Parts: sequence; structure tokens; C-alpha cells
Amino acid sequence: MLPRLLDSLDLQAFTDAARQVPYQQISSEVFPGLDVWVRRDDLIDPLISGNKAYKLIFNLIEARNQGAKTIVTCGGAWSNHIHAVAAAGARFGFKAIGIIRGERPAEFSATLQDAQRFGMELKFVTRAQYRRRGELDFLRDLGLENEGVYFVPEGGANLAGVKGVQLLGRVIEETAPVAFDQVWVACGTGATFAGLYSSIQNCSVIGVEVLKAADSILNEACYWVSQAESALPGGQKTNNHSALAGAERLTELRKRLLSQFHFGGYGRYPKELRDFHMGLSFEGVPPFEPVYMLKLLYALQKGSGEKELSGGRVLILHSGGLQGRRGFND
Ligand SMILES: *Cc1c(COP(=O)(O)O)cnc(C)c1O
Repeated sequence: MLPRLLDSLDLQAFTDAARQVPYQQISSEVFPGLDVWVRRDDLIDPLISGNKAYKLIFNLIEARNQGAKTIVTCGGAWSNHIHAVAAAGARFGFKAIGIIRGERPAEFSATLQDAQRFGMELKFVTRAQYRRRGELDFLRDLGLENEGVYFVPEGGANLAGVKGVQLLGRVIEETAPVAFDQVWVACGTGATFAGLYSSIQNCSVIGVEVLKAADSILNEACYWVSQAESALPGGQKTNNHSALAGAERLTELRKRLLSQFHFGGYGRYPKELRDFHMGLSFEGVPPFEPVYMLKLLYALQKGSGEKELSGGRVLILHSGGLQGRRGFND
């Protein structure tokens, strides 16, 4: 399948596009003993790629419904989310403003060059200012709290974002070519994991944390699972695992979030990971970037020796991010 453009802000059209995303079986030599497939969500759109498309769809529809003219969001210099929001703004007629972490660099990253070319206005803030991005007066202090502004948090991690990922979870259940035992996903904020965990009923969802997060991804995922559940009409439960309450749910989620494969932190690409990357040059293995997907594949290979997984069928969510590969010059 060639990437098609998501060309209208229409939920039905988006869902149809999600249903067309292909599943690709990976050569058995890469993960001996496992039947591994990749769902190629990197192909859902050439620019609004991967999980970011799902986290944005309800945000974009909501922005349009509110009559917003401008979408404001934030991220780092190589952010896949910034890239996707800039593209979506241009595509769907919003002005986009990106609040970028750190001083304005002398030379823009390829991501920021694209964002600017797509028409995004870039506003650089100090790291100290950026740390306040979750606070209520963050936008006001930057002079951005105006009428007609719709704010999307970093990474698209809000309830609308999680609902978009739940749509993905339902599409996976509908379109999976075989019955999977597990679905694996890379975690930054944990919002994508939470959306899949709370919408996929017939197999377990495993998240690989790509940053040194202590319990922050776990807590965030837990928060979104509860939020997603209470947002359902009539207090209806999303599925069996989400019926678990508080502490029990934390314990349950902890088992599904693998925190030992971050390789020292976000964006780290040490030799061991590079060597693993080089070794992945099997025919029929799709392109992956080092920040998210590569750590996921590494974790799956290390974890695939575990008894509970052996002989299993695993689906890897290709959450996109390929534009970010330009930050790695090897
Ligand atoms: C943003 C991103 C993620 C992380 O998604 P979260 O919902 O923040 O956990 C995973 N993979 C890729 C390629 C991404 O760009």
C-alpha cells in the first residue's frame, strides 16, 4: 500500500483509511519461535504518520467544531508530534504554532525545517519555561491564550488523543489477519498504550518504555485508562481489565509495561542498539527508527525467550516516526 493522504476531517473517512493499513509478516529468522506481524501505521499518511494520526483525529475534529483557527502544541526539535501537527494544520486549514523546547538553534533540525515549511510558527522557550507546559497559565504567559486557539498537549496525550487510539484498537480487532496473543507498542507518554489497552479485548497489550521514566509512564497510562473509562456514556466499562480498580490496576499495568529497554534515555542510540539495527537487514523487514520502534523490536527479541511468549503470535504496532531518522547520521 502506498501512503494515501488523509484528505478530510471526517471520522468515517479516517476509520476507512485505518482499515486499509496493511499487516506485514516478518521473516521468522528475526524472532525465532514467534509469529510476528507489523501493522504498518507508518503508512496511514505520508506526513501525519503513525500513532500521531490517531491521537490527532479527535483533536482536529474538536478544534474545527469549536471554530478554532489556530492549533498550538509543544515538543522538542525532533518531535514526530510537532511534525504531524504542522502537516495537519496545513492540510486542514488551521494556523499551527509550535512551542519548541530550548533556545532557538542557529540551524534548525530537519523536523523544524519541515514544520516551518508547512507553515507552522515556531516559538522557542527555555527549558525552565517548557517544564511548565502542563500548568494552566502556560499559554497565557506565552501570550498564546487567545480566542480561537485550540491547545494540544505534548505528544497529543489528552483524552481526545486516547479516544483516537481506542478507535485504532477497535480497527485492529476488526482487521487482524490472525488471532494475536499480544500487541506490542512503544511508549513515550503512555497514551497510545492506554488507548490500546482499554480497547483491545482479545489479546494482551505490552508497552516498551523508550525513556528512563521511573513510574511516570505507568502513572500516566493508568490515568488515561481511568479517564477513558469514565468518559464512556453510562459508566459502561471498556473491557474486563479496565474493571480493575486503583492499586490493582497499577499492578496489572506494571506487568505490561517493560521499563528495562530505554538504553539510558530518550533518543539514546548506543552501539548495542546500532548493532541490533544493522542485524535487522532481513528482506521484508520494514524501515524502523531508533527512538521508538528499534527499542521495541530489541525488547521483543530479548523477551521472546520467555516461556509465556514462545510460539505466540505477536502484533507490533508500527507507530511511525520515520521522519526522525534524519537526526541519526550513520
Ligand atoms: C510519539 C511516538 C510514540 C509514543 O507514543 P505515546 O502515546 O506518547 O506513548 C511511539 N512511537 C512513535 C514512532 C512515536 O512517534
